[in-house]
Amino acid sequence: MNQETLNNIKDYLINLKEIGINELPIELVRADTEGLKSGGQTYLSAEQAGRLPEADDTVWAVHEPTILRTLEDVRKMIGDCKKCRLHQKRKNIAFGSGNEKAEIVFVGEAPGEDEDIQGKPFVGKAGQLLTKIIEAMGLKRDDVYIANIIKCRPPNNRNPLEDEISACEPFLKEQLRIINPKIICALGTFAAQTLLKTKEKISSLRGKFYTYEGIKLMPTFHPAYLLRNPTDKKYTWEDVQKIMAEYRKR
Ligand code: URA
Repeated sequence: MNQETLNNIKDYLINLKEIGINELPIELVRADTEGLKSGGQTYLSAEQAGRLPEADDTVWAVHEPTILRTLEDVRKMIGDCKKCRLHQKRKNIAFGSGNEKAEIVFVGEAPGEDEDIQGKPFVGKAGQLLTKIIEAMGLKRDDVYIANIIKCRPPNNRNPLEDEISACEPFLKEQLRIINPKIICALGTFAAQTLLKTKEKISSLRGKFYTYEGIKLMPTFHPAYLLRNPTDKKYTWEDVQKIMAEYRKR
């Protein structure tokens, strides 16, 4: 196994730990020298162990760790998450919606009332504006993927707290790893600051490409902010045109 593979495994295990998985299912299974009893297991045969098989030989099999391969795997892993206080008042987890193979992913802040009720991100007023932005880009909501930094509604739509962000962010990280889009559009201060690990204001971050885990990331204003400040829509329009120019490069 080379160093790169070892580093990838290390990163993967660190991610799982952040999500709250501290143990992997390593199950020792007795098998005979005739071969494997069932698939999905790693065996060390007597030969591999560098000795001759013996009559009542035993081989110990180790199940391979479960790897999260699909968004459904991530959703299952989140389950009825109680990692932070937001679970107490939520109606539904707004996991994410759209195309698992999307080339563009929009990341917002946290579900509001409508999203909490429907268990889907961006379905309220800000969501309607986001849909219009996506359509103005010549795309449909089903072409892209939409998620939030936080999956449960903060009471009265207050800002997410630091510990809530750190509890939830690893889930988004897994979603983005699986989708592996070409471009991420970070909507608003919380998404941009969380993904870029910065405290810079959205007004100075927006309009430029950054890199998140090797993926191009464009911060822009949050649709809810644009509803309150419609004259700034022109900046978001500039930003999404840059996204489209990048998206068309193949
Ligand atoms: N605002 C967000 O950031 N996300 C939503 O899903 C809805 C409103």
